[in-house]
Amino acid sequence: EAKKNGRGQISFYSEASYTLQRRRLKLTQALAQAHQDGSLHLLYQPIYTAGTGQIASYEALLRWRHAEYGNIVPDEFIALAETSNAIQTIGRWVLEQACRQAASWPTAPGQPQPPRIAINTSIRQLVQPGYSDLVSATLQQCGLAPQRLIIEVTESVLDERNMDRASASLSALHGLGVEIHLDDFGTGYSSLSRLRQLPLDALKIDKSFVTDMDEKSLTVIEAALLIARRYGLRVVAEGVESAQQIATLRSMGVDELQGYHLGRPAPLPAP
Ligand code: C2E
Ligand code: MG
Ligand code: MG
Ligand code: MG
Repeated sequence: EAKKNGRGQISFYSEASYTLQRRRLKLTQALAQAHQDGSLHLLYQPIYTAGTGQIASYEALLRWRHAEYGNIVPDEFIALAETSNAIQTIGRWVLEQACRQAASWPTAPGQPQPPRIAINTSIRQLVQPGYSDLVSATLQQCGLAPQRLIIEVTESVLDERNMDRASASLSALHGLGVEIHLDDFGTGYSSLSRLRQLPLDALKIDKSFVTDMDEKSLTVIEAALLIARRYGLRVVAEGVESAQQIATLRSMGVDELQGYHLGRPAPLPAP
């Protein structure tokens, strides 16, 4: 709705849209400091091996509290951070915190190693020159074996505009021994034929397909399993909220399970 402002000129922003713009601006400015002002913290959600029920890994999920606006969901602030360099400083903070935390975890009885740590990585971080060197240096500083780190990337890595740089970065990371998981599988529109050009270890089925479990969703899950078997990848299902879903996913052959029914994102107890 066009309005007259103080100088009698027409403004094309409604009040609501002005408030929104102002919020975006303030949040974006605050994000530049977030890695050093104590407003960020990580929660950890367990991911279980379907067969044994052991905890295979924890996914680090970022939380941000803004002084004025309160808790902001990651879907909002990550998108904002990606519009500036804040995604790089925040991404480094996540990497360091998560690796330091995971380095202190004990090995459960009968397990070959402590749980892995999975971190989400924005395509903007991944294609930043020197990203694999940063990861390598951080692992060394924290004393974490590369085999215990999982980098989760979305299907944006399959976009032909990113593919070359993303693929080079992922290959360098994989060369270190780090696992690569393709997150939110099934939601992208990218060419699946490019999948085999990337050094992937697992497909992570998007929670929307687990929530529905209708005919169409089951087809996507079956397709993910087929592709995974073909290329030697594991399949992880996220968003598991009921025992019924667990039973179905297990019987279909899904390798790992994550969701509120099994464990919510939480601060880890001291070991
Ligand atoms: P994601 O990586 O796909 O993470 C899974 C999301 O599903 C998380 O939301 C998690 O809390 C939620 N979830 C887990 N189990 C269930 C369940 O049973 N039911 C439902 N309804 N939801 C469940 P969250 O924590 O809000 O994170 C949203 C997204 O923000 C993440 O999706 C990821 O893409 C992004 N994100 C989170 N932390 C980071 C980070 O450190 N860096 C980057 N670049 N992105 C991050
Ligand atoms: Mg994820
Ligand atoms: Mg996901
Ligand atoms: Mg997601």
